[in-house]
Amino acid sequence: MLKKRLGRTDLMVSVIGFGGLIIPRISTDEAISVVRRALELGVNFIDTAKSYGDSEEKVGMAIADRRDQCIITSKSLADNPENFMSDIDLGLKRLSTNKIELYQIHNLSSKDKLEKTLKSGGLLDCLKSAKKSGKIDFIGFSGHKKDILIEAICTDEFDFVEMPINVVDRNVWCDVLPLAIERDMGVIAMKPLAGGALTDLSPDIISLSLRYAVQQDISTAIVGMKSIAEVEQNTKAGIDIKPLSKDEEKTLFDSADSLSKTFCRQCEYCLPCDQGLDIPTIFILYKHFTRFGAHEISRQRYSALKVKVDSCIGCGKCEERCPYQLPIREMLRLAEEKLATN
Ligand code: SF4
Ligand code: SF4
Repeated sequence: MLKKRLGRTDLMVSVIGFGGLIIPRISTDEAISVVRRALELGVNFIDTAKSYGDSEEKVGMAIADRRDQCIITSKSLADNPENFMSDIDLGLKRLSTNKIELYQIHNLSSKDKLEKTLKSGGLLDCLKSAKKSGKIDFIGFSGHKKDILIEAICTDEFDFVEMPINVVDRNVWCDVLPLAIERDMGVIAMKPLAGGALTDLSPDIISLSLRYAVQQDISTAIVGMKSIAEVEQNTKAGIDIKPLSKDEEKTLFDSADSLSKTFCRQCEYCLPCDQGLDIPTIFILYKHFTRFGAHEISRQRYSALKVKVDSCIGCGKCEERCPYQLPIREMLRLAEEKLATN
C-alpha cells in the first residue's frame, strides 16, 4: 500500500485509510476481522469518532495487540471545553490506548463554532493542553463548508484537516485544498465515495472514484468498510496506483454529474426556511430510507419532526441559496412520499 506524508505531522499514512463510521452496523467479531484484514493489506490509518456509536471500542479491540501498526484519528462534536476534554479521555479509554495520534474538532460547521474554538479557553486550547499532557500528538478539525474550511485553515493553528474530497464535489474542494497544502497541513479526504452516494452506482464507478481521490494532493482517503470483501476491493486503489485515463475520467465525471443533480451535501446553506423546515435532516432521513432500508426508524424520526413537508409554501428561497442548484421542492415532495406515514 502506498504511504504518503501527512503534512507537517511527518507521519507516513496509507493512501487508503479505514473509515470507522459504519462499523457500528456490524457485530464486534465482524468489525475486528474487517479492521485486521485492512491492516494486513497495508492500511495503517484509522478514522473514528466519539459520535460513531461503538466505533472507538471496536477499533480498540481490533488493534489491541497491534497498536504499533496503526495511526489513529478520533474527534469530538462537543462545543463546550469540559465535554470536549472528557471526550478525549473517553476516546483513550474506549480505544484502549494511552495516546490518540490525531485529534479533531468534529464538524467545524459555523462561524460561531470557529469563534468558540479560537477564543482563549476554547476548544483549540483544550487540544493544546491535551497535546502538552501527551494524550494526543497533533491537532486538527473536520468540516464540510467551504467558507469555514478556508477560514479555519488560514488561522494556521491546525496540523491537519479532514474534508470531503470526491468527484461529485470537485468544484468545492478544488479551491480549499491548495490552501491546506501551502501550509503543509495533512489532508485527510473524507467521503471519497460522496458519503455513499457513489456506491449506488456500479463497482467500476466505486473503483474509479477511489482512484480519483487517491490521485489528488491528499495524504489519505478514508473509506467506510464493513466487510472483508469491501476491504479487499477498496484497498486495491492504494496498492495498484493507476491514474485515470481520459476515457475513465469521462465515465466517472458523467456519472458524478448525473448524481450531483439530486445529491444533498448537508451543507445547510438552504436554511433557514421561513416555515421552519429542516431540509437537510429530511434528506438524510430519505437517504436512510432509500439506501439503507431503514424504513421504520426513518419514518419515526420524520414523524417526530415539528415541521413536515406539507408546511412548505413553495417560495423557492431554499433553492436560491443551495450552491448545488438542487430541486429542493421536488426532492422534498419525493421524500415525503416515502417518509409520511399517512
Ligand atoms: S420552498 Fe419550502 S422548504 Fe424551501 S424555503 Fe420555501 S417554504 Fe421552505
Ligand atoms: S439542499 Fe442544498 S443547500 Fe441544503 S443542505 Fe442540501 S446541498 Fe446544502
